Amino acid sequence: MKISRRTAVISASTFAGAAILSACGSKDSEPANDASPSASSGASDSASGSASSSASPQGPLVTWADNTMVSHLFFHSLVADPKRAFDGDDEAKGYLDYMVTIDEFKKIIQQVYDRNYILISPHQLYTTGPDGSIELKPLELPEGKKPLVISFDDLSYYEYMDGDGFPDRLIVKDGKIVNEYRDAAGKKQVGAYDHLPIMEEFLDQHPDFSHDGAKGVIAMTGYNGVLGYRTSDISYKDQNKNLDQDKKDAKKVADAIKKNGWEFASHSWGHINFTKSPVDHIRADNEKWQAEVAPIVGKTDLLIYPFGADIAGIGDYENEKFQYLKSQGFNAFFNVDASVPAWGQAGGKYLRQARINVDGISLKHAIEGTSQTLNEFFDPHTVLDPQRPKSISG
Ligand SMILES: [Zn+2]
Repeated sequence: MKISRRTAVISASTFAGAAILSACGSKDSEPANDASPSASSGASDSASGSASSSASPQGPLVTWADNTMVSHLFFHSLVADPKRAFDGDDEAKGYLDYMVTIDEFKKIIQQVYDRNYILISPHQLYTTGPDGSIELKPLELPEGKKPLVISFDDLSYYEYMDGDGFPDRLIVKDGKIVNEYRDAAGKKQVGAYDHLPIMEEFLDQHPDFSHDGAKGVIAMTGYNGVLGYRTSDISYKDQNKNLDQDKKDAKKVADAIKKNGWEFASHSWGHINFTKSPVDHIRADNEKWQAEVAPIVGKTDLLIYPFGADIAGIGDYENEKFQYLKSQGFNAFFNVDASVPAWGQAGGKYLRQARINVDGISLKHAIEGTSQTLNEFFDPHTVLDPQRPKSISG
């Protein structure tokens, strides 16, 4: 069975492309909100561990001092073939700006690990009461470890990426989650050609990088389907003859992903801007996500804003958009702020956390010295892929 990407003409393709990525992307290109979360916070170092509370086989455990001060890095799909991605065509600028290569990702993850970060889940930070209240819970980490959430945005292998040196989709083979990828010669390869399978391999070798089995969060839209499967009825009802089978296949992959410790977040169905969208638009979009994406990846209480575009400034959430999203079961909300190593807010009924984009734009800022944030996690000079042009970003 082969999914026909070229022939699937849908309205979404008109807004796919580099613009989509800037989203998850970065405030450099599109300020998510006039009230930057960074205004209210210091660096993550101030939140290092405090009282020793118990012991474990690895030694003493230390309770992290402040659950709102947890760093969060996010990535888009990795460039598997820089030659095809950075080829100067219409999409190349977006890939340079909003993505890193496999080579860069592997070096970044190694250095993050070497600097004593440990992967945690947002759900290790809070519990939810029956009345919807959020209570922070103690995060006990091996001594010297610093908590880190990672997320992967838009793991859909969008149509516009076809032929540009990215995998086609995720599959399960011999019990492992791997990619199907067509190389430059058109030959189908199966293996670790994107961050999720690469992280699985890294974690096999470094199991202490994961705290109690936590791995990362996958931010999922719906308009181009999920995980490389064109599963959307709205977009593909007449185009994809294998729609029902694709849904089953995608669910198998999603189940395997969750079983291995990964979690899914809503990234909205249509990659909408929550700052600009009226609540009616947010409701209509969420209904599509719940109808088309939740049956495959499962219900989630995590919402990762496209474009980092938050529903409010840094004041406590209380507006109509929040009331709606909370009524739909969302408890943790993630915007974008790369100006500090960590920012968060616990508001009684929600947890909010800022994410840091790791991409061509932030690498360029780090290399040029205009931002120090990434230096907290790795040495930007040593991770750059030689295949990335001297301009670094687009
Ligand atoms: Zn996105």
